[in-house]
Amino acid sequence: MKLPSHLNSVKGFLDHDEGICLYNHALSSSKKGPILEIGSYCGKSTIYLATAAKEYNCSVYSVDHHTGSEENQVGWEYHDIELFDEETGKINSFPEFMRNLRKANLLDTVIPIVSDSSLVSRDWKIPLSMVFIDGGHTMEAAFNDFNNWKDKIIKGGILAIHDVFPNPDDGGRPPFEIYRKALSEKNFK
Ligand code: MG
Repeated sequence: MKLPSHLNSVKGFLDHDEGICLYNHALSSSKKGPILEIGSYCGKSTIYLATAAKEYNCSVYSVDHHTGSEENQVGWEYHDIELFDEETGKINSFPEFMRNLRKANLLDTVIPIVSDSSLVSRDWKIPLSMVFIDGGHTMEAAFNDFNNWKDKIIKGGILAIHDVFPNPDDGGRPPFEIYRKALSEKNFK
């Protein structure tokens, strides 16, 4: 495993253990087809996924509008003033994302898509070996991501979801609800 040395300093909300889990699934998925993640932010999860994918010359599509989720905006719990863009009044994580991927030498593996995930899904035809959902955490955003992308995963592929908390005291419900929805459908186990 050749994870880049600056990985610990990359802004993000992914634990190292979770990153290793993504890395391992990405490594086995990379032999079967490209990987797509929803919610790149500053590229932390992207680096775990793409470091594995690069071993097999597999591409990682990384979808994010880069203007942040609700909780990243001014006055919210996860706002980061360093990412604030005065022109739009929102955050802009794209420059930081590109900087981190460049440093990690992964621009030959990651294909950034700067757009809304629902819009990207509309014309998407490429079968995916793995989809990682970590976009908006509202009920609407989480269900849109699940419904729009679930059928683009190949048989035997991986659907990974971040921030799944079975206990409501530990965190918000939408990622857990789409996890439960996936298990209720016959195509997922
Ligand atoms: Mg997350």
